Amino acid sequence: MIYVDLKGRLSGLTMTSSSFEAQVADFRQYVKRISDYKSAINLLGWDARTKLPKKGVDARSQVIGTLSTEHFKMRTSDDMQRHLDRLSAHVDQLTPVVLRTYEECQKDFDKSKKIKADRFEAFTVLTNTAQSVWQTAREHNDFASFAPYLSQIVEFQQEFIDCWGYEGHPYNTLLDAFEPGMTVQVLDPLFSTLRAQTVALLQKVMQAKPIDDSFLFRHFDAEKQRAFCTRLVQQIGYDFDAGRLDESAHPFATGIARGDVRITTRFLTNFLSTSLFGCIHESGHAMYEQALSKDLIDTPLHEGASMGIHESQSRFFENIVGRSYAFWDHFYGDLKTVFKDELADISLDQFYRAINVAKPSLVRTEADELTYNLHIMIRYEIEKGLIDGSLQVKDLPEIWREKMMEYLGIAPDNDADGVLQDIHWSSGDFGYFPSYSLGNIYAAQFANALEKDIPTFSALIANGDFAPIRKWLHHNIHQHGKLLMPGEILLKATGEPSNAQFLVTYLTKKYASLYEF
Ligand code: ZN
Repeated sequence: MIYVDLKGRLSGLTMTSSSFEAQVADFRQYVKRISDYKSAINLLGWDARTKLPKKGVDARSQVIGTLSTEHFKMRTSDDMQRHLDRLSAHVDQLTPVVLRTYEECQKDFDKSKKIKADRFEAFTVLTNTAQSVWQTAREHNDFASFAPYLSQIVEFQQEFIDCWGYEGHPYNTLLDAFEPGMTVQVLDPLFSTLRAQTVALLQKVMQAKPIDDSFLFRHFDAEKQRAFCTRLVQQIGYDFDAGRLDESAHPFATGIARGDVRITTRFLTNFLSTSLFGCIHESGHAMYEQALSKDLIDTPLHEGASMGIHESQSRFFENIVGRSYAFWDHFYGDLKTVFKDELADISLDQFYRAINVAKPSLVRTEADELTYNLHIMIRYEIEKGLIDGSLQVKDLPEIWREKMMEYLGIAPDNDADGVLQDIHWSSGDFGYFPSYSLGNIYAAQFANALEKDIPTFSALIANGDFAPIRKWLHHNIHQHGKLLMPGEILLKATGEPSNAQFLVTYLTKKYASLYEF
């Protein structure tokens, strides 16, 4: 006699199909509750970054903290363990969605369980403090005050890596958290190709006649920018019935739930590019999540395959589509109508060249399409060296300047614009930076495959017809969510593993034509 109680728990000695189905349903229900928590956390987080009054910040942090703790507890609970144990005996009977959900939950469970609760808590306390220490250190250009915290964070990372275990390089474990399956062995040759070719290209750009982009810094009314950006992202395919556009100091996109993927931007009245390309970038992220398969709803697979694949979608729209001549061939008329005085004397050709200006700069977040990856290389090499012990925290300011000189030909005279510029290390996010460049590499590789399938790619953009492009992305990338690994998506969509040559070819062609060399 088989008996399944209200929670789907099994009693009895033999397994029948009905009890198996009940177990799967029970597991799915449990996993759905976890994603409901996540949805609530994301919504509160969105509100905190866009609408929350200053005096509500502390209380909100506590609410998010409480929900995050519950979310973590559910993912690592005895209940979760029971679900996973029950399914483990029947993996060959699971549908692809349930199997991948099971695998994701198991991986998450194992990883979390390997760290003792008191060590994880100590790390959380440390990074909370380190973030405010970092903020003050950056303001006062005082690396020495942040250095002891960074050293401790690195030691924690090394300790966690030992608990989690690793194959090959210890940094692989950190990479895997953001880019499942990625390793130093793959990344090193990928990045060294890109670095060498980018440095050579940049030198040619620097020898060429500079492009004038000064008109982008004229006064542009914020309300007019908002109206234009709204129309623009709507036309490329961002669905306002399943999202909204708000303002925040640091632009982001966030998936709250099915049918609710929001974007934010910042309207600077003295620089037009920020809102234009920020909006296109974030809508690239958001259109990915708006197009995830319905089959993945209420599972941990209902999100991007990895940080790198996610970033490939935002960079594809921002740079490959949004900074193309064809794109502004379509949109520039409208922009010029909106800013008829400001852009009266500026031709489409001048505009296209100005939005693509490349030059070495000190700060990553302000870097252009060409030089951006060089900023990432520096961080990647430093992180890898800190983790394997070949670099010491105290030497970072000097190493930073040396690498900046070597790759970009300029170096900061203070650490605030150097080694202290990013928040990532103070919050313990090691392994994240490579995702940005992987996004660029993947984006060019996807674009190459897309253009083979749709040779009219540029003509479609120039006509403002983005549906066939979105359809290709949906079919090859978006719908899969986390059902496929990043490497599988790349292989299926482009026929080969990650290859930096597509990005190099794209950049070479683009900048040789822009700077006429
Ligand atoms: Zn992004």
